Amino acid sequence: MQVLAADVFAGHRALVTGGGTGLGLEIARALARRGAWVAIASRDPKHHAGFLAEAEAAGWRARAAVLDVREPAAARRVCAAIGEDWGRLDLLVNNAAGNFVRPALALPAKGWQAVIDIALSGVFYCSQAAARLMRAQPNGGAIVNIIAPYAWTGCPGVVHSVAAKAGVLAMSKSLAVEWAPYRIRVNCVAPGPFDSEGAAARLWPTPERRAAVAAQIPSGRFADPVEVAQAVLFLASPAAASITGATLAVDGGWSLGKGLAGELDPEAVQRRRD
Ligand code: NAP
Repeated sequence: MQVLAADVFAGHRALVTGGGTGLGLEIARALARRGAWVAIASRDPKHHAGFLAEAEAAGWRARAAVLDVREPAAARRVCAAIGEDWGRLDLLVNNAAGNFVRPALALPAKGWQAVIDIALSGVFYCSQAAARLMRAQPNGGAIVNIIAPYAWTGCPGVVHSVAAKAGVLAMSKSLAVEWAPYRIRVNCVAPGPFDSEGAAARLWPTPERRAAVAAQIPSGRFADPVEVAQAVLFLASPAAASITGATLAVDGGWSLGKGLAGELDPEAVQRRRD
């Protein structure tokens, strides 16, 4: 379903980190289909080829950059190149992240550091580099950060990612206020579990684990990355011109307290849906 006009992003220049795979790819496609010029950036150029080929076939304006978001100078270079070649940068989607399941007592310092560097520091480096361009633009710009509902609920087994996402949530509210005078809006989308190659391999590697995760979701199903991308587009669009510092959960109720309902029985959820 299309909620926004087909040309809502006509000529907007967008950068999506991690835009060659999973949710990032869906966001990049959805933006390009609605007229945006889309740059994707991540470490592995093999992850860029699919989007670039799709863009060429569809006639979208697109580019890709090799970027490790942990390097602030590289983030500045990528944003500056977009500014030089495309004239401006209207939208940054901080989607790149890393995650894996490990009990906190067994989490090596290196694993903690890697996730914090990518999913927290990387978001700051890219946001700062983008905002330095956006603040000079009459229409400012928009930043949408992909977090997760466990930024406010917590989640055992992924304390490194929880801490990073909670940091991004607080960072987004702070930057929303600090950068509002420059007409830069900063919002978050918090998806519940959805299938991507990265998530499937690291978070629910077996059908049993996937079913156990799905059983915790009141709506009884994983989110669809296409649905999550729609939420990102809404917050990035002029329809959300007065929205900043907000978080939109797209999680089928996963983050809501279950109170006296206890463990949700997937068959009972299915019966209620039928
Ligand atoms: P994914 O398919 O594993 O994609 C992660 C992307 O991040 C890849 O394109 C990867 O590209 C890029 N990346 C990783 N480290 C990077 C670095 N240091 N510098 C630049 N790019 C880097 O993940 P996904 O499942 O679609 O997740 C996308 C976002 O949704 C993430 O922020 C994740 O935390 C969030 N999320 C996911 C779920 C879920 O259930 N899947 C739920 C809630 C929130 P390269 O390898 O080429 O660098």
